[in-house]
Amino acid sequence: MPFLAESQSLLPRLVALRRELHADPEVGLDLPNTQKRILEALEGLDLEITLGENCSSVTAVLRGGEPGPAVLLRGDMDALPVAELTDLEYASKNGSMHACGHDLHVAGLVGAAHLLAAQQQDLAGSVIFMFQPGEEGWHGAETMIAEGVLDAAGERPVAAYGIHVRPGPLGVFRTKPGTLMAGANELRITVTGSGGHSSQPQAALDPVPAVAEMVTALQNMATRRFSVFDPIVLTVTQLEAGEAINVIPDTAKLGASVRTLSEESLNRVIMETKALAEGIASAHGLRAEVDFNVLYPVTVNDAARTDEALRELRELFGMDRVIQSRDPLMGSEDFSLVLEQVPGTFLFLGATPPEVDPATADWNHSPRVLFDDSVLADQAAALAQLAYNRLTEDLGAEQEL
Ligand SMILES: [Zn+2]
Repeated sequence: MPFLAESQSLLPRLVALRRELHADPEVGLDLPNTQKRILEALEGLDLEITLGENCSSVTAVLRGGEPGPAVLLRGDMDALPVAELTDLEYASKNGSMHACGHDLHVAGLVGAAHLLAAQQQDLAGSVIFMFQPGEEGWHGAETMIAEGVLDAAGERPVAAYGIHVRPGPLGVFRTKPGTLMAGANELRITVTGSGGHSSQPQAALDPVPAVAEMVTALQNMATRRFSVFDPIVLTVTQLEAGEAINVIPDTAKLGASVRTLSEESLNRVIMETKALAEGIASAHGLRAEVDFNVLYPVTVNDAARTDEALRELRELFGMDRVIQSRDPLMGSEDFSLVLEQVPGTFLFLGATPPEVDPATADWNHSPRVLFDDSVLADQAAALAQLAYNRLTEDLGAEQEL
């Protein structure tokens, strides 16, 4: 099915939708304007639509002309609390920004829905379009899974796909089988001693030096206790202690972001951080409370589905535009929760405008990041093609017999 030509003719509508979304970004799980625009953009298509109860998600199911398996396509919808610093004519002025390109993800998924709906009769099975709010740390995928998105077609999908834009040469896809992105975790340590006068530390139990010790000890732990072939990234981002300069506080706190690439390293880092914090605290006569929160698991691409996706996208876009990446990214994604239950593939799509050097382009989450919306045609075509192939391959096999 030649989705590329069809997709090019949809492009002006998708670009217009993306720019409307970009100018009116919404943060978190409740994105009423975004949801309304999605519903308008899907109007006229033969879709079964369910709206989220605890978030403003849109789940749309397209039933093909014949029975068959289900495939899930996902686009996330939310923006970030970042004040936009681009000079785009459609730049946001409300203090939030689509700095992670989720405005493109929505428009690309709308495009895929139009492309596949036009082939409805050819499809043996169903496509679930998962428009997801709250990806940026709001547990949006978890909420949608709890509300039944994976069973929206009546049976578990046999494949799931999502595409994320990022800086890189325009229109170049990248992914890899296996671990693609890190798991995201939050570490919080509270050290409790006994406060007092800053001139009399011997009469108090000062938690501040212990927390300072933990900052460097955690870095040593990351490099000394973990294999270089299964590394972690641990970044202390929050330190909190005391109000008055002449008072030793009762407590001091530390917060860190921890990225892991495997179940083994996750289990190990939970154990090691607890032992380390409690050990340092007790050496100084203090108490440490360690709270380790697993935010999102590691994003793992199914090996067979991903080899297949690489091959199929190369047929569509050519070898040069579909690259198998060598290393995972230490960023995280809650599509990982879908991929824990459905074999599938998450892909990156380079979207740096042609006038910007991809090597020095601002990254996702920067107030200056730029994504070129001409990639929307490729994004929509790629999603549609992968779903189409899964829902027609058995038909092809039967015909061959
Ligand atoms: Zn994102």
